[in-house]
Amino acid sequence: MKKNSTNPIIAIDGHSSTGKSSYAKMLAKELNWKHIDTGAMYRAVTLYGIQNFPEGKYIDNQALVSHLSDIHIDFIYNPETQNNDTLMNGENVESEIRGFKVSELVSLVAKIPEVRNFLVKQQREIGKKGGVVMDGRDIGTVVFPCADLKLFITASIDERAKRRFLDFQQQNKTISLEEIKENLKQRDYIDQNREVSPLTQSPDAILIDNSHLNKQETYQKILAITKEKFGNILP
Ligand code: C5P
Repeated sequence: MKKNSTNPIIAIDGHSSTGKSSYAKMLAKELNWKHIDTGAMYRAVTLYGIQNFPEGKYIDNQALVSHLSDIHIDFIYNPETQNNDTLMNGENVESEIRGFKVSELVSLVAKIPEVRNFLVKQQREIGKKGGVVMDGRDIGTVVFPCADLKLFITASIDERAKRRFLDFQQQNKTISLEEIKENLKQRDYIDQNREVSPLTQSPDAILIDNSHLNKQETYQKILAITKEKFGNILP
């Protein structure tokens, strides 16, 4: 996928619950660029499947695939949270897509080739003008292999589970640490082993393991790498 312009693209890939999206958002804000959380797009498609094509505990994948064109995903700025909220067919689903039910099924939906084609096309369209920080699993490898800077963020499974657990606790959601750890392990496994665009570090991506770094330290590292790469790009 070639870019249309000279505006840079930063791709941030990596494992679940490493803070990728938060760092991508902070960086985009600092650069005055667009931030696209591609995980939110996979989550929105999963929510649509849960709502419209449930099949026991799972989703009827065939039915979902044949109705992909009915799903319209947008992002809208929420001045209260200063985040981009996810809209699915005009409805704000930001809170619902972060729930545990969606987390349990999203990797199964994300491995469906038709779903990936459907979303990758949209991600390329949104990002083609550049000036974008896009985070996900396959941004530097598949969506924009031409990205100007690629980061790959990881952390130990215990550390990631702990962070997720604290997130849920803050939202008064009662999910056990063990359940969260199991879910993260399962998602890692499915994401890394699927046939189409599996989660893998692009050879030209810079690896950041933030198991022993706090949020501020991780972000400072990302900023330093960005400055080194682009020089005076920060406004
Ligand atoms: O980033 P987040 O954890 O919200 O992503 C949810 C899921 O969406 C991931 O576990 C993965 O299965 C899928 N995903 C993907 N490709 C992307 C972004 C997310 O397969 N670019």
